[in-house]
Amino acid sequence: MKMTKTTLALATIIASISINPSLAKEVTDSSWLHCGNLIDTQAGDFLGERFIKVTGNTISEVTTNKPASASLIDLSDKTCLPGLMDMHVHLDGEMSPTAYVEGFTLNPADLAYRAQEYGMRTLLAGFTTVRNPGDSYNVTISLRNAINQGWVDGPRIYSAGKSIASTGGHADPTNGVNAQLMGDPGPKEGVINSVEDAKKAVRQRYKEGADFIKVTATGGVLSLAKSGQNPQFTVEELKSVIDTAKDYGMHVAAHAHGKEGMLRAIEAGITSIEHGTYMDKEVMRAMKKHGTYYVPTVIAGKFVAEKAEIDGFFPEIVRPKARAVGPQIQNTFAEAYDYGVKIAFGTDSGVSAHGDNAKEFEYMVEAGMPPMAAIQSATVTSAELLDNDQLGVIAKGKLADIIAVKGNPAEDIKLLQKVSFIMKDGKIYKQ
Ligand SMILES: [Zn+2]
Repeated sequence: MKMTKTTLALATIIASISINPSLAKEVTDSSWLHCGNLIDTQAGDFLGERFIKVTGNTISEVTTNKPASASLIDLSDKTCLPGLMDMHVHLDGEMSPTAYVEGFTLNPADLAYRAQEYGMRTLLAGFTTVRNPGDSYNVTISLRNAINQGWVDGPRIYSAGKSIASTGGHADPTNGVNAQLMGDPGPKEGVINSVEDAKKAVRQRYKEGADFIKVTATGGVLSLAKSGQNPQFTVEELKSVIDTAKDYGMHVAAHAHGKEGMLRAIEAGITSIEHGTYMDKEVMRAMKKHGTYYVPTVIAGKFVAEKAEIDGFFPEIVRPKARAVGPQIQNTFAEAYDYGVKIAFGTDSGVSAHGDNAKEFEYMVEAGMPPMAAIQSATVTSAELLDNDQLGVIAKGKLADIIAVKGNPAEDIKLLQKVSFIMKDGKIYKQ
């Protein structure tokens, strides 16, 4: 292209923007962390005292030798571990008695500002990476982009954008509204009713910038619909979603409470089952056979069961579902862990409060999972689910997402609710 005066001027402006230091992402040159103890998340063991060198956003060295150089961040009374990863959050909202009218009162920009605040709460709880299965107006795709550009701070986000449902299904955006407003949303809005619709809905999500796909394979607790368990897609529709997603390098997560919907999703080749409330041995066997991940969200079950007892907190159509599903999830989690189903950490935060994510560890341990296994579910196993080998482990060459807690979290898992040092991408957020 020949440089005209205008394009040259434009090029100069663009160049000056990209080197403006105030807009550049803050990166630490090189610093050392002195960890009193370090968790090897792959082995599920402690390595003892370690010195970690961070260069830019990368871990450049892990050693037992005390470095001669100056700037040493003292974490010598703390245990270091990789930044925590929550595979199920909804950063664009938080459940409250007024949540159901927000669709009529809040604009996309309102949700976006709030999502940034919720993202910060999550990051400051020690969760440096989250997976957001379903939002409104794609605000978590925009938030992900804004964080990656350095415009705002927040956790590393994998977003599905809008969830895919069938008509009247758990993520049909017009459930429960009056006939004038109900309309007939289609694949563009994430509502499908055929194999062809499924392809279009996935391609639309790709076009909008989604990292992965979320389907609502069964009814859900909080939607304004009667059943929380019924299967809501045919196997052919699910296969079409999954095969199309594969073309674009995206995995598919399935919200599911009822058994039949889970079996269909697993048979179709789903990557993860979210909630999984009524899974039985047959479902667990199928999950083990196919290598399907389970993302339990115990804290969401506890939250809805508790709030169902408060008059007016939920609409009446939601209440019986919340009462039934809520208390069941922790038992299901205990059985699935015993059975040997692969478990990736997830909370469904946005049902419970953002920033309370680490309480899930306590519920997992309460249900019989050893603390170290719970830590692995939120580090190595989650990284494996995301197919990202740069996360979930502290080793040379990996991304510098590092947190530290005082004491030994394998002895007291509640310590993870009080994270005292947080680094994401080489940048310190709490010290
Ligand atoms: Zn959810």
